[in-house]
Amino acid sequence: MKLSKSVWQTYKEVPNEAEIPSHQLMLRAGLIHKLGSGLYSYMPFAYRTIRKIQQIVREELDKIEAQELLMTVVTPGELWQESGRWDKMGTLMLKFLDKGDRDLCISPTNEEAITDVFRKSVRSYKQLPMTLYQINTKFRDEIRPRFGLMRAREFTMKDAYSFHMDKACLDEVYDEIYQAYVNSFERMGLKFLVVEADAGDMGSKDSKTHEFQVTADTGEDIIIFSEQAGYAANAEKAETLRSGLVFEKNDGELKEVSTPEMSTIKDVCDFLKKDQHHSIKSLVYSLIKEEDEEIVLLQLLGDDELNELKLKNYFGADQVTPTPEHKLAKMGLPKGFIGAVNLPLPMRVFFDKAIDLEASYVTGAMKVDTHFENFRPSRDTKDSEAFDMRLARKGDFTLDGKHEVDEKKGIEVGHIFQLGDKYTKAMNVTVLDNNGKAKNPLMGCYGIGITRVMAAAVEQNYDDAGIIWPKAIAPYHIYFALIGKSEEIKEEAELIYKSLQNAGFEVLFDDRKAGPGFKFKDSDLLGLPIRLVLGERDFKEKGQLEIVIRKTNEKLFVTKNELTSKLKEVLEKC
Ligand code: ATP
Ligand code: MG
Repeated sequence: MKLSKSVWQTYKEVPNEAEIPSHQLMLRAGLIHKLGSGLYSYMPFAYRTIRKIQQIVREELDKIEAQELLMTVVTPGELWQESGRWDKMGTLMLKFLDKGDRDLCISPTNEEAITDVFRKSVRSYKQLPMTLYQINTKFRDEIRPRFGLMRAREFTMKDAYSFHMDKACLDEVYDEIYQAYVNSFERMGLKFLVVEADAGDMGSKDSKTHEFQVTADTGEDIIIFSEQAGYAANAEKAETLRSGLVFEKNDGELKEVSTPEMSTIKDVCDFLKKDQHHSIKSLVYSLIKEEDEEIVLLQLLGDDELNELKLKNYFGADQVTPTPEHKLAKMGLPKGFIGAVNLPLPMRVFFDKAIDLEASYVTGAMKVDTHFENFRPSRDTKDSEAFDMRLARKGDFTLDGKHEVDEKKGIEVGHIFQLGDKYTKAMNVTVLDNNGKAKNPLMGCYGIGITRVMAAAVEQNYDDAGIIWPKAIAPYHIYFALIGKSEEIKEEAELIYKSLQNAGFEVLFDDRKAGPGFKFKDSDLLGLPIRLVLGERDFKEKGQLEIVIRKTNEKLFVTKNELTSKLKEVLEKC
């Protein structure tokens, strides 16, 4: 491609809203064009990268006999009614009516659509297992679209779905797809972790789910991991132990202490000169399930945080939210001084597992400006249950108590999931098994955020000057800059450009009327693996061209004759 004929444009300034490097760099490097909130056009160079990412994924999936198809972006509401998700997807799903007043939506995901394809096309167990995939546009009306392509509203996803007669077969294909994902992300040159993820209300107890997380400081997900233990899980899901805590054990009676205006755990513990794990934090939560709401009291160690997802899963709730302050007041619960003793109304109380129920703690006394000392859960509460509801964090230990865990941030680029018969049951899909009996097949679903992968690759590969593309997904391999004005050198450049193209190199030819400073800045910003410079003076005097490796800034001079072989050699190593 010749830059003189390209729409490409770089920018010095970036809009303030671009908070993270990949978003800033992709805007500055003219790779994406914003049309509206969470809506981006992929400009030609970005689109080349996107196609390369797609191709890698495609090749790895085709290797395991998955078949590519393309479904519609708009799906009928009827299908979602059938699966029961029409009212469950919330505002994420963009719904609308057609001219005949029929419900439609722009697909946020495609389980319903693929299940419909399957039920109309497959009859016999002999055709299974079957894996189908597409690479298509998705729309999710995200609450906070941000970080450019990382959390866009319209984006490209590769979504795959597999169908099976039994769990053993689902497990087998799941493992194959897991491996295909590992291969894909490795080929793209990304550093990533595969982590255990939350199955939410979708999966049954034995259904597996993993996320593929590209590690980056700006990632929105937290990964809890221990290399020695071979453990990695999304913090949403991670189960760990607190370590080395010594609790206070005494026979003291419950004792009121005055804690005027001290409504935070920190204030109270500082005042009483105690570490925060000697206190219990009380959280009042509303659990919403279908039409019902139950308000419960949660008890955690003072320095722990609640993991809302664990709460939601434990109760199988549709939604869990902290009960708002005005409601607490109406119920006679004094915010900041709530505890499990002297509850003004019947309410179930739940303790986090990290709490030693036989130890003594400071806790709210259910009276303004007052706390209790010597609150012993086993003695002072009745019928309470304990479960793991805390957010795992760095410094905890693995469940066997042997390894300390650490934290890293990650960008979720892929997610694989065993769905079981959720959709085939709801949508009444059956296949005859080898005894002629109709069975609901089991399903797996497997997503890769193609456009998010591009953003994640930039987030992991850049420096002060710009992007440093991993070779496998770079828009082009060589940025060929002509530095010179004479007709002679221009002709020479044209010849070299042609010969490189003929030799099969992916070359971007900067033939614009601009000086070296301008061209080199653009070249660094765009971040192709190699810059090749044809400088008029060097070429005339020494017959040389310069090769610069973007990643290492290594430079070497080559003659025209050895150019192709040298470029091959250098690219090989990039
Ligand atoms: P997240 O937790 O980041 O919102 P998700 O778990 O809802 O993502 P999935 O339903 O698992 O997403 O979708 C499969 C893949 O699609 C994700 O792993 C991610 O790479 C990508 N993806 C999801 N939402 C977006 C988005 N808003 N913009 C870009 N890519 C996305
Ligand atoms: Mg996910």
